[in-house]
Amino acid sequence: MVRCNPHYGKLQSSYLFSDIAKRIAKFQEANPGKDLIRLGIGDVTLPLPPACVAAFHAAVDEMATEEGFRGYGPEQGYDFLREAIAENDFRARGAEVAPDEVFVSDGAKCDTGNFQELVATDAVIAVPDPVYPVYVDTNVMAGRTGAFKDGRYEGLVYLQSVRGNDYVPAIPDRHVDVVYLCFPNNPTGATATRAQLAAWVAYAREHKALLLFDAAYEAFIRDPELPHSIYEIEGAREVAVEFRSFSKTAGFTGTRCAFTVVPKDCMAYDADGRPQPLHSLWNRRHTTKFNGVSYPVQRAAAAIYTGEGRGQVRGLTDYYLKNARKIRSVISGLGFHCVGGDNSPYIWIQVDGDSWAFFDRLLNEAAVVCTPGSGFGACGEGYVRISAFNQYERVEEAMGRLQALLQ
Ligand SMILES: *Cc1c(COP(=O)(O)O)cnc(C)c1O
Repeated sequence: MVRCNPHYGKLQSSYLFSDIAKRIAKFQEANPGKDLIRLGIGDVTLPLPPACVAAFHAAVDEMATEEGFRGYGPEQGYDFLREAIAENDFRARGAEVAPDEVFVSDGAKCDTGNFQELVATDAVIAVPDPVYPVYVDTNVMAGRTGAFKDGRYEGLVYLQSVRGNDYVPAIPDRHVDVVYLCFPNNPTGATATRAQLAAWVAYAREHKALLLFDAAYEAFIRDPELPHSIYEIEGAREVAVEFRSFSKTAGFTGTRCAFTVVPKDCMAYDADGRPQPLHSLWNRRHTTKFNGVSYPVQRAAAAIYTGEGRGQVRGLTDYYLKNARKIRSVISGLGFHCVGGDNSPYIWIQVDGDSWAFFDRLLNEAAVVCTPGSGFGACGEGYVRISAFNQYERVEEAMGRLQALLQ
C-alpha cells in the first residue's frame, strides 16, 4: 500500500481564487450583460515588449538552422543572460554579484517554492503575514509545520505586516533560521527602506539565519532612495538569496523566465556547525532537477537589457504605475487608508468591516472585482487588494464607479 505524503493533508484548499470565481459567476448569472471590471488579478495584461518579441523570433529562426540549432543548454542558464543580469541588475547598482551566482529558471514561484529543500526539515521558518502563499504551502508540504489551527500553521513564525509597522515586519525577538521577505510586497505593495533591510541583514548575521528575498516587483520601484536588491545592503551576500522574475517586469507570466541569485559566500550549516555554501547545494539541486529554460526564451529575456528593451520595459511598468496612481488617489480621496501603488502595482486598502463583505459590496454594487485581504493571511482581514494590471480606461471607469458608490 502506497502511503501518501501525510503533510499534504494539512494544506488548506486555497479557496480564495475559486471563491472569487464562484461569486463572479453568480453575479454574472443574476446580472447578464453587466460590464464587469477585474482589478483582482495578479497577472499582467500588456503584450510582450517588441524588443523581446524580435529576439524571441530571431532565436527561433536560429534553431531552425543546422548551425544555429541548440539542444540542452547549461542548466544554470546561458552566459549571455547571466552576464547581462549580473551587470545590469546588480553591478550597475553597486551590488556585487558574479554571473555564475545567477541561476536562470522558469519562474520565481518555483524557485521560492523549491529553495526550502536546501534547509533542514527542523529549521524554524518565518513568513510575513499577509503572505504570498507559496512560501507557506511549500514548507507545509515539506513537513516543517504542524496542523492548521485558528488561521495559522503550528510551528511557523508569522511576521505581522500591519499599519502600525508600515507593513514592514519587525525583527523577531526570538531565533528563527529562515526568513521570507518580499519587497515591493505582494499583496500589500509596501516597500522596505535601506535601514529596514539593513536591520534584517544584521539579524540574519547574528543568528546565522538565511533571508529569502523575493524581489519579483523590483521593476516598479521609482523612489530613488529605495534599494532594488538585498545586495545593496552591506553584509547581505553571506546571509541572503534573492529571487527575481521577468514576469511582472516584462510581461513574461506566460513566457516563463526568472532567476535566483545565490552568492558563493552565503552559507547554511551542517550538524557540526560547519558552513556549507548554499551555492553548491542549489547548483546540485538545479542541475539534478532542472534542464534549463529554452534558448529563445532566454534570448527574449536578455533583450530587456538592450537600450530599446530597457525603454520598453520602463514604458510597461510606467503604464501600470499610472493606473496605480489613479487608484491610490481615488481611494485616498474617499478617505480610506491605503499603502502601495507608488512603487508597486498593488494597492492595499483598509476597509470597514471584513474583507469579503467589502468584496461583495464592490462586486454587487459597482461590478468591480478586487481581492479580499483575508485570503493572504490573518493580518489581511479588514483589507482588500486592488491590482493595477488592466487598461487605464477600465481603471478610470472602475474608480468612477467606486466614487459613486462610496462617496
Ligand atoms: C508574480 C510573483 C512572482 C513571480 O512568479 P513567476 O513564477 O516568476 O511568474 C514571485 N513572487 C511573487 C510575490 C509574485 O507575486
